Amino acid sequence: MYQFSRSIYRELAPEVIEDGRDAHANRIALLKSCEAAMERLATDRHYFAKPARTLFRDVRTYFPMTSQLRVYRVIDRYMALAGEYVDRHMQEGVSLDGSPLSCHASTRKGTPCQRVPLPGSKYCPSHKHLEEDIAATAA
Ligand SMILES: [Zn+2]
Repeated sequence: MYQFSRSIYRELAPEVIEDGRDAHANRIALLKSCEAAMERLATDRHYFAKPARTLFRDVRTYFPMTSQLRVYRVIDRYMALAGEYVDRHMQEGVSLDGSPLSCHASTRKGTPCQRVPLPGSKYCPSHKHLEEDIAATAA
């Protein structure tokens, strides 16, 4: 996830201005804001309606007037990419740290099991044996 915040930072850091404090402090604040926005996008996707606008509002004072449009465009581009990345993971039923959001097994009715998997497992307690079967086959 942080590849996106670092990309934004790399593109925009050279344009950061001194604003009350020195430019170095502003660059650190910029990176922190980018990372916080990515964090929120990853964990709170559905309630984070306008991530690009929110991040832009947070960091715009670090840039000169003449850079504002470019800053917004860079943020908007990477936020869109990050949003697609998060959506893709959610469709696969996998959270960003790689752990599944719900049990990967099917119930006897053939519908997906809705139970929460055990930590570090793809399956809930009642389907845990499936993972052991896979492990046994792989070995
Ligand atoms: Zn299950």
